[in-house]
Amino acid sequence: MSARILVVDDVPANVKLLEARLSAEYFDVMTASNGTEALAICARAECDIILLDVMMPDMDGFEVCRRLKTDPATHHIPVVMVTALDSPSDRNRGLEAGADDFLTKPVSDVVLIARVRSLTRLKMMTDELRMRAITSLEIGMQAPERSAVADTGRGGRILLVDDRQSSYERLAAILAAEHTIDVEPNPTEALFHAAEGNYDLLIVSLDLNNFDGLRLCSQARSLERTRHVPILAIADPENSTRLLRGLEIGVNDYLLRPIDKTELLARARTQIRRRRYTDHLRDNVQNSIEMAITDALTGLHNRRYMESHLATLAEQASTRGKPLALMILDIDYFKSINDNYGHDAGDDVLREFAVRVRKSIRGIDLACRYGGEEFVIVMPETDLHVAGMVAERLRRSIAGEPFAVHKGTKRIEVTISIGLTTLEQKGEAVADVLKRADTALYRAKHDGRNRVVSQAA
Ligand code: GH3
Ligand code: MG
Ligand code: MG
Repeated sequence: MSARILVVDDVPANVKLLEARLSAEYFDVMTASNGTEALAICARAECDIILLDVMMPDMDGFEVCRRLKTDPATHHIPVVMVTALDSPSDRNRGLEAGADDFLTKPVSDVVLIARVRSLTRLKMMTDELRMRAITSLEIGMQAPERSAVADTGRGGRILLVDDRQSSYERLAAILAAEHTIDVEPNPTEALFHAAEGNYDLLIVSLDLNNFDGLRLCSQARSLERTRHVPILAIADPENSTRLLRGLEIGVNDYLLRPIDKTELLARARTQIRRRRYTDHLRDNVQNSIEMAITDALTGLHNRRYMESHLATLAEQASTRGKPLALMILDIDYFKSINDNYGHDAGDDVLREFAVRVRKSIRGIDLACRYGGEEFVIVMPETDLHVAGMVAERLRRSIAGEPFAVHKGTKRIEVTISIGLTTLEQKGEAVADVLKRADTALYRAKHDGRNRVVSQAA
């Protein structure tokens, strides 16, 4: 885990100090002595995390942070502000600018490394998701960065786990101004509650009576339903060493008591914003995976998927010594359906056709839209005889019941022709199997359509 850390400070001695400590922990360190330089490095996507001095001539750290966080290209880079003064108002200005965390000079080694490690994990995960989601831009889905920059982080669902009444009443009252908040005073119920509630943020007290709050945090990290929910820990100052342990096991952020109202709200917003952004990225990845292998009109697999998957199925059939059947189906006189009833009616037919195909095949069969009104079905462990019966059943399911078009106001007769073959010879090229099926289909068309023609290998 070698992250590239950008240290920005106008005082060379400060830069050197942080650089030495981070290098000792095997981080790659880059440096900049002013905000303009830092922004340029970030724009070139050359760093993973920024340690940003607040007091700098020309452009101060708040301004640099604000610019990074409002630019869709850089907003996901974690920013840690390094301040000389540890005043709540400074911290809050930074949080308002979108900073992810704070370190106070002189910076403690342990805290520095713990924070950088935890933010590195976060950055790596986000990068992974962004990389996989990137193709979504090419297929015209909304870029998650745009909505992330606009998100206020308000209106989240928060679960607060705290067993001290005076504490949770105060915290809940503060948070309720911007979020929906549930309180769970019983730590043994908390994990269940968290898993059921679809929360955007868990706030966990580490000062619970007879219960280890960190255990709860670690359980929440390993449970599928709560794995991606951010955790904000709160603790008494004498518990602060446990907070560092918390960061190691996946706590995202923390606050020390007594809790400053503005800081609590700002940190909650930061976590909720991040949660929504990564959720959005994750959905995006899921969608791009589905879109990449699915035909949008029929919901069947697309040709690209079939071609890559068919090779695998053929190989499996060969090594296991099992037959593999393949058929090409083509709708008869489809052009005249378009011509007589319109393109939309043609689309209705294609959709309904896919529905009937799905009903006629098994889960392990692979059905795909091969071209306009041409489809391929691959059936593992099926010989020519059985495949012939399936094909015949399919042919009847199309010809036997007219297709509703124009929102059910019209019904039209549709028939299909099917060319069928099997892969039987070990190691036969997939292209040859497809070609044989296509030849069989051609014969079915030639012989009068609405029929199945089988061609043995
Ligand atoms: P044959 O019986 O010989 O297969 O005749 P056909 O008319 O079905 O074959 P042809 O290949 O001449 O025409 C196929 C038509 O399918 C032409 C094309 O405009 C239409 N088509 C292709 N994709 C779509 C689609 O997504 N929607 C609609 N409505 N029509 C499509
Ligand atoms: Mg056709
Ligand atoms: Mg055709």
